Amino acid sequence: MRMAAVGQRVAIIERGRFGGTCVNTGCIPTKTLVASAYAAHMVRRASEFGVQSGGATSTDMRRVKARKDQVSGTSRSAVESLLKSTPNCAVYRGHACFESSQEVRVGEELLTAPQIFINVGARAAIPSMPGVAEIPHLTNSTLLDLDTLPRHLVIIGGGYVGLEFGQVFRRFGSEVTIVERAPHLIGHEDEDVSNEVQAILEREGIQMRLNATCIALARYGEEIGAHLDCAEGAVEVSGSHVLLAMGRTPNTGDLGLERTGVECDSQGYIKVDNQLRTNVAGIWALGDCNGRGGFTHTSYNDFKVVAANLLDHEARSVADRIRAYGLYIDPPLGRCGMTEREALASGRRVLISRWPMTRVSRAVEKGETQGFMKALVDADSKEFLGAAILGTGGDDVIHCILDLMYAHAPYTVMQWAMHIHPTLSELIPTMLDQLRPLEVRPGIGANPVS
Ligand SMILES: Cc1cc2nc3c(=O)[nH]c(=O)nc-3n(C[C@H](O)[C@H](O)[C@H](O)COP(=O)(O)OP(=O)(O)OC[C@H]3O[C@@H](n4cnc5c(N)ncnc54)[C@H](O)[C@@H]3O)c2cc1C
Repeated sequence: MRMAAVGQRVAIIERGRFGGTCVNTGCIPTKTLVASAYAAHMVRRASEFGVQSGGATSTDMRRVKARKDQVSGTSRSAVESLLKSTPNCAVYRGHACFESSQEVRVGEELLTAPQIFINVGARAAIPSMPGVAEIPHLTNSTLLDLDTLPRHLVIIGGGYVGLEFGQVFRRFGSEVTIVERAPHLIGHEDEDVSNEVQAILEREGIQMRLNATCIALARYGEEIGAHLDCAEGAVEVSGSHVLLAMGRTPNTGDLGLERTGVECDSQGYIKVDNQLRTNVAGIWALGDCNGRGGFTHTSYNDFKVVAANLLDHEARSVADRIRAYGLYIDPPLGRCGMTEREALASGRRVLISRWPMTRVSRAVEKGETQGFMKALVDADSKEFLGAAILGTGGDDVIHCILDLMYAHAPYTVMQWAMHIHPTLSELIPTMLDQLRPLEVRPGIGANPVS
């Protein structure tokens, strides 16, 4: 749309649903499910707040799905009609495939262009573990099509997608077991974060099977089962449905890239420089397919970087952005910058402060005191290095710290800022009063929250 607006002739090719993963099978539908699951959870807790809910609750999955479809569908239609009504923009439906570095085929049409932007996204990875080809399994896309409740959902993969779906379906009323190869969930986080996330989910009755070194799927009577280690023997976990949530694969294998000379890495991600140019002049790669992000905000920021460089003559680089993301369990995790492990590995002198949600007045008033927040600061420059806020509102509050990081402002700016009472944010300055040196110790991040 930016290019069309400056008078360039643009063709956009979509083989599936407008809006891509986020709108149709990712962020938007999952966050509507998270909202329905939160409603179910709060109805169950109603009496704690002095509210009578009138007995047992149940989830009408058809209505949950209808709400999700309505929210997704509105967004999808808005994207489609916007593109179709944009002057200079021709919309093509079908699979795009390169014929050469300047030619793309879509059905009978051969389009020629001096500038081509690849933004093909990714799909659920289906690893080649034993049994996977014979046993029915769900992915993030097919699970969203269900309008009945799984009796027992076994989720293979303890990352963001698996954890969000796990809590949602548990709150809807399914039994849920999460199977993870590593010793910790969301393994790249510090252990205090992953341990607390695990505890939150276990308190709701989700079963965890960590250290599943050798997962194999098998039929087990009417059920689908999984062996969790390499030893022969009985199935160790079985359920009515299995969700594979084991990462994503870029949609680059069927694009005809071999006819362009565009280079990919060993996992199929397109190699790009910091302005998202591939090794072939005139071809850029944005979003999940370049392996530089994996989130909607990184994909959108890719667009901003490319547009700034090409249209606004502003030298912007993806190297300048700070890692930030949310995990939308309840309570959510907001993260930015480095983990403790990364901060120590950087060789800096690091200060840390942690603060439990039990000591955040607003969290106590809401009855949502699970989790904690922590911040890491460079002792010399006084700039923030990173933060984790696991608690009610943590996905929004993390931006207080993220924006100071972009401003390269010292933490003392926030220490002296007057924040509004009662909010979660008001405790960040207080937490910063308690900064102390972060010491190298075994099992980093595993220290109890003080
Ligand atoms: C369950 C789940 C939950 C998520 N939740 C969040 C979240 O809360 N927050 C967040 O930031 N991110 C989230 N993500 C990640 C987010 O959805 C993706 O990072 C984002 O959608 C990537 O955008 P993209 O533009 O790179 O690709 P996509 O959105 O995947 O778009 C690529 C488009 O290209 C089309 N396409 C592919 N190949 C071709 C071809 N050859 N020809 C024509 N068209 C083609 C596809 O049909 C698709 O429409 C989630 C992902 C999943 C799976």
